[in-house]
Parts: sequence; structure tokens; C-alpha cells
Amino acid sequence: MQLEFFSHLRCRECGRLYPKEAIHVCEWDFGPLEAVYDYEAIRRHISRDRIESRPPTMWRYREFLPLEGEPSVGTQVGFTPLVRADRLAKALGVREVYVKNDTVNYPTLSFKDRVVAVSLSRAREMGFPVVACASTGNLANSVAANAASVGLESYVLIPADLEASKVLGSLVYGSRVIGIRGPYDKVNRLCSEIAGKYRWAFVNVNLRPYYAEGSKTMGFEIVEQLGWRLPAHTVIPMASGSLLTKIAKSYREMIDTELVEKRPFAIHGAQASGCNPITDAFRKDTELVRPVSKPQTIAKSLAIGTPADGYYAIQTIRKSGGAAEDASDPEIVEGIRLLAETTGIFAETAGGVTVACARKLIDSGKIPKDESLVLCITGHGLKTAEVLSGVLDSPRVIDPSLREFDRLVSSDINRAPLPTRSEG
Ligand SMILES: *Cc1c(COP(=O)(O)O)cnc(C)c1O
Repeated sequence: MQLEFFSHLRCRECGRLYPKEAIHVCEWDFGPLEAVYDYEAIRRHISRDRIESRPPTMWRYREFLPLEGEPSVGTQVGFTPLVRADRLAKALGVREVYVKNDTVNYPTLSFKDRVVAVSLSRAREMGFPVVACASTGNLANSVAANAASVGLESYVLIPADLEASKVLGSLVYGSRVIGIRGPYDKVNRLCSEIAGKYRWAFVNVNLRPYYAEGSKTMGFEIVEQLGWRLPAHTVIPMASGSLLTKIAKSYREMIDTELVEKRPFAIHGAQASGCNPITDAFRKDTELVRPVSKPQTIAKSLAIGTPADGYYAIQTIRKSGGAAEDASDPEIVEGIRLLAETTGIFAETAGGVTVACARKLIDSGKIPKDESLVLCITGHGLKTAEVLSGVLDSPRVIDPSLREFDRLVSSDINRAPLPTRSEG
């Protein structure tokens, strides 16, 4: 089978072509580099039947990913459930809602396993002895786990104040975990310096063009799981803005290779109010993204004050007819609870952001009530469980006696109906 549809890297700004190396910015204008494919060859080669005959992983869209050979890391990642969520749709007051559930992605319960599968496979193709990343938590977990699975040495750099589960979820794999005093932007800047000095594969720095393409698989899966149909609306959480731009790219690629019929698709972005540089620029009708120097939000996985792809995210949202929203900490917690109570899916804070922002987009009419939407839920709730402490009731504790149980069941407290959360 022909595997190489991936030919070059190309500057998003000036279009200059570059060889497929560990580089990520154009030396002429500092524009970001992006993978280039021969779409005409892919169109001739691929079909829905061909894709459907393959194993249920993200690699069934192999032709659209920037590797030279077969993947060697994260071969089981992806093809997470797309769940039709009628009770959530009712609570939000819209016709149809689907949840793309990456809380159960393999192996580290977030969408980041997708980008890591691609970038570590590519790092091995290029012969890097050490892999590394700058992370807000989930990327660190995924690099650590996937590196361990193939015996690669890894360094992960994170802000020192991350959630306990995310720190633990990197340490357990034997990765070298380094906490940096300061926000993510400082971590990222330090990683750029390290990448200039050490010959390491920083998945989201010098390998970023490969890393970023992995996000497209979330979009391919959504379309296939909807029965080869583009969703009218997709709501996507934004940190650097990369996932959002790549889901839009995946939809365009499927149109261009005739895997799906063309129709309008609106791409909506979601951020936390305490770190909302992209949403803020969208509201002010500018493409100039003003950095947030001190992010303050419980949604730490999204807390990037200087988003690398912010400019492109805004362009993507505008061009698609979408919008951007943000959510406060209490709204994020409310979003987590609404999703859990109506779908049985426990999301981390980023999922709460997505649900809360979707509600605002619906209430403001930016997502019409009679159209269908997909919510991208990107990480598992047990990773950020501390945000619920003091919010949920404690379990009622009794002696092991049927009489005590009867008393409990008949008490009013236990009979109280679940609060409805439709009123903001
Ligand atoms: C990294 C991450 C995102 C989105 O990140 P981008 O930098 O915008 O691609 C969304 N949700 C979670 C849980 C994440 O960890």
C-alpha cells in the first residue's frame, strides 16, 4: 500500500516549502510550518469502505497523517465514542447534541494521546533518543505514558502548581517531571531554549507540525460516526487554539477528498474567563490576540496566555460562521455536573468549559435551537477532581442495619429531586 502522501512542510504565511525535518517556523517570516499532502492521490486511494474495514483506532485515517512509515507509538489510540446525548440536548434546549467522548481515550484519558501518537512515532522515525514537552498537564501524562510504552526516555516540563492527579499521572511512568515556577508561557519559552541546545524531540515545539496534525483525527471520527456527515455546529475548547484549527482542517480535507458531502459547518471556540485571550480578541473583532500574563482559572489544561494558534483559531471561527465564548469557574463546575448528570460522562474542567460555553452560544442564538451540534469533551474528570471538593454532597454514612437504611430512604433529604440546572 502506498503510504507516503505526505511530502513537505510548508509555511502557513508565505507558502515556502521545507523538507520533513524537526523544524516548526519559517526562517523568512517566522510563520508556522504545516504538513503538506497530495490530496489528489489520497482522493484516488481512499474510500469510506476502505476506512471502515480498518481497526477502530485513529490510524484508520493514516493517509492524512505526517509519517513516512507505519506508526510505532500509540497504535491503539482513538476512535472514542460519539454519544447521542438527548437528555443534555433537552437541558440545553436544542434539537440534537452529540458528545465526542475523549475522556476515555487510550491510554491517558485525554485527546492528547492523539497528538502524542503522531509526534512520538515521527520522533522515532527521525531517530531522536529523548522526547519531551511543555505541558499544561494532559500532554505530560500522554508523553510520559506513550514514551514508557516503547522504552523512550522522556522529560516533561509543567507549571509547578498543576493538579495533583496530573503530576502523579506523569511521575508514575518513570518520566522525568520538572515543575517550573510560573505560568505555562514561561514553561514553553524555556522548552524552546532547551530544544535549541539539546537534540531532543519536543513534541509541541520542534515537532509541532507533526504533533498538531494528530488532532485532525478527532474530526475525522466525528464525521464517520455521524454516518459520514458534517455536523452543523462543533464546540471546541481552546488552549493554544490548535485543536480547533485542526478539526476544521479535518472537515475540509474530507470534503476535498470526497469522503463527505460539502455543507456549511460552524466552528465555535470555548475558553475559561480567567484565561480567554482568543475569545477576547474574537469579541473585540480583532485578530490581535492580547496575551494574558497571569491566567486565573480552574481550567488549567486550557490556561495558555499566549496561544500559538490564536490568530488562526479566530480566522477559522469567523470564516466558518462560528463564535467564541468563555466561562467562569462556577459555570465550569456547573458544566461538569450538567454533563455528568445527563450523560454519565465525567469530564475534567476543560469539558465543563465546553458545556458552559455551548449553553451560552445556544442562549444567545449563535447556535440555533433546531440545529445539531457536537461537543468535543477532551479530558477525564478524575484528573481535576479537586474542583468538586465542597461542591458535591458527602455520602450519608449509616450502620449496617436495615432499620437505619429504611429511615434514611424515607427521609426528605434523600427524596429531594435532583436540582434542575437549566437556569444558568
Ligand atoms: C490541550 C487540551 C486542549 C486543547 O489544546 P489546544 O492547545 O487548543 O490544541 C483541550 N482540552 C484539553 C483537556 C487539553 O488538555
